Amino acid sequence: MILKPIEELERVLGRLPGFGRRSASRAALALVREPSRLLEPLKQALDNAAKEIVVCSRCGAFTVSNRNPCDTCTDPTRDGAVVCVVEEPADIVSIEASGAFKGRYHSLGGKLSPSRRQGPEKLRLDSLLERVKEEGFTEVLLALSTDMEGDATALYVREMLKDTGVKVTRLAFGLPADSGIAYSDPLTLRRAIQGRRDV
Ligand SMILES: [Zn+2]
Repeated sequence: MILKPIEELERVLGRLPGFGRRSASRAALALVREPSRLLEPLKQALDNAAKEIVVCSRCGAFTVSNRNPCDTCTDPTRDGAVVCVVEEPADIVSIEASGAFKGRYHSLGGKLSPSRRQGPEKLRLDSLLERVKEEGFTEVLLALSTDMEGDATALYVREMLKDTGVKVTRLAFGLPADSGIAYSDPLTLRRAIQGRRDV
C-alpha cells in the first residue's frame, strides 16, 4: 500500500520536466528515506525560491525581490541601443551563455498560439511597446523559436512596432527548426545572433 503523502509527493514531482512516473516515484522515496539530507534542505530551498524569486518588472526575466529591476536591466555597461525579445526567461540564460549579445532583454512570457488559446493579450507586448518608446532602442532583435507560432509572433511584433521607426531584426537561421532558443548550443546561437537580418 502506498502512503498518501508519498503519493502526493510523486504526483507533484511527476509534473516537473524530465520526470516520468517511475523517476517521480524513485525521487519521492529517496526524499523520505533521507529527511535530513534531502527532504528538509529541499523544503528550505523551495521556501526560499517561492519567497525570493520574482519576475523582473521591466524585462520579465527571473530576479530576486531586492533586485527589481534586475541586474541586466540596470547594468550601465550593457548596450542600451538593442533589446533582444525572447519567449521565456530560460532563453535569456542561453543567449547570455553564447556571449554574443550585450544589450537588454525583454521576455514575452510565451508566444502566440491559437491552439493553446494564447492570444496577444496573454503576452508582455504592451510593456515592450512602452519600453521601445521610452528607452530609445534603435534595434529590436527577435530571438523567437523557428516554428509557426514563433513566426506568427515575430510578424505581430513587427506590425506592432511599425510606427515607432525602430529597426526590427531576427536571428539568422541555422537554429534547428521547431526548437526553442533554450535548447540551442552557444556556438549556434552566436552565429544566429551575428548573422541576424532585418524583418
Ligand atoms: Zn530585468
